Amino acid sequence: MKNTKELRTWLDDMKLDHPLVIAGPCSAETEEQVLKIAHELKDSDVSYYRAGIWKPRTRPGNFEGVGALGLKWLQKVKEETGMKTCTEVANTAHVKLALEHDIDMLWIGARTAVSPFIMQELADALQGTDKPVLVKNPINPDLALWLGGIERLYTADIKNLGAIHRGFSTYEKTKYRNVPEWQLAIEFKNRFPDLPLINDPSHITGKRDMVFDVSQTALDLNFDGLMIETHFDPDNAWSDAAQQVTPDALKQMMKDLKIKKVTNEEDAYKDALNNLRAQINVADNQLIDVMGKRMKVADQIGALKKEKNVAVLQNKRWNEVLGNMILEGEKVGLSEEFVLKMFKAIHQESINHQEKVING
Ligand code: PEP
Ligand code: MN
Repeated sequence: MKNTKELRTWLDDMKLDHPLVIAGPCSAETEEQVLKIAHELKDSDVSYYRAGIWKPRTRPGNFEGVGALGLKWLQKVKEETGMKTCTEVANTAHVKLALEHDIDMLWIGARTAVSPFIMQELADALQGTDKPVLVKNPINPDLALWLGGIERLYTADIKNLGAIHRGFSTYEKTKYRNVPEWQLAIEFKNRFPDLPLINDPSHITGKRDMVFDVSQTALDLNFDGLMIETHFDPDNAWSDAAQQVTPDALKQMMKDLKIKKVTNEEDAYKDALNNLRAQINVADNQLIDVMGKRMKVADQIGALKKEKNVAVLQNKRWNEVLGNMILEGEKVGLSEEFVLKMFKAIHQESINHQEKVING
C-alpha cells in the first residue's frame, strides 16, 4: 500500500468543512425505528446513516439483527432523507446482498477483522467495488492484523478505504467498554497519515456520558471522523442501549466539539500544537495508570513482608533495579540524572505504600 492519498478520494471529494459523521442506531430494529431516527438526523452534519442488519453478538441468544429485510429500510432512508447509508458485512452473502441493495458504504466489524481468512473472503467478494469499505480494528490490539485486513482489500482493487478505531478488549475491568489504546491509533496515523481514520467513541466507552470526551480526544489527534450510535429511545434499544445517544444529543455534541479548521499559518501552528498536546495527554494518562498498577503490586509486597516479618527496605534489590533502569533509560534517550530522580520518587512512594500496609 503506497499512495494512501488516493485511498481517501471518497472522503476528500465530499469537501466537508467538518469531520465526517456517521450516525444511526446500533441495530436496525423495525422499519419505523430506522426511519424515525433517520428523519431526526436529516438536518445535521451526518453524511452516512449507519444501522447494523447482521449483528455479531459475542454470545448467542441476544438480538442478532433483522437480516436482509433491513436493507430495504436503509434504501428508504436514502430515498426519504438523502443521507447515504452504511452497514456491517461479515461474509460473502452479506456483501452480495448489501451491494445488490446499493448500500453506499460497508464496514467490517471488530470480530471479523481478527481473521485473515474471512478478511480475504470479503476482499474477494468486494473485488473492484468503488464503495468505501471501512475496517474496524480487530478486538485485540494488533496493528499488523488491522493493517493486514486493509491491505487484503487494497490488493483486491478496493481503492476507497478507511479504518475505524473502536477500542480493544481487555480481561481487566476498566472504565471503558473497549480500551482506546490511543498510542496504537497514533502509530496507525504515523504509518498511513492519509488513510481515513474514523473514531467510534460508542464502542470504546460503552456509556453515553463518556462519548463526548473520547470524541474530542479523537479530533485533537486528527481523526477524520466519528461514528456514533444514535437512537431516539436509547434505553430501550435492542442492542448497546447504554452507549447510544439521542439525535438531539448528537447535534448538540457536534456544536460543542472543538473542530479545527486550518485556514492560515497561525491555525496550522495551533493545530499542530494541539495534536502534539493530545499525544502528551495520552502518554501522561498511561504513566499515571502504570504508576497506579505498580503501587498495587507494592501493596502486595508489603503484605508479604508483613507476614514474614521482613524489612521494607532491601538495598541490594533496589540498587539492581536502579542500575537496570538507568541502562533502559539510556536506550530511549533519558539522562541518568533524570532516571535517578524519577526512580527515587517512585521508590519513596512504594515504601510509603508498603509501610502503610505493614503498620496497618
Ligand atoms: C457495531 O458497530 O455495531 C459493532 C458491532 O461494532 P464492533 O464490531 O466494533 O463491535
Ligand atoms: Mn453497537
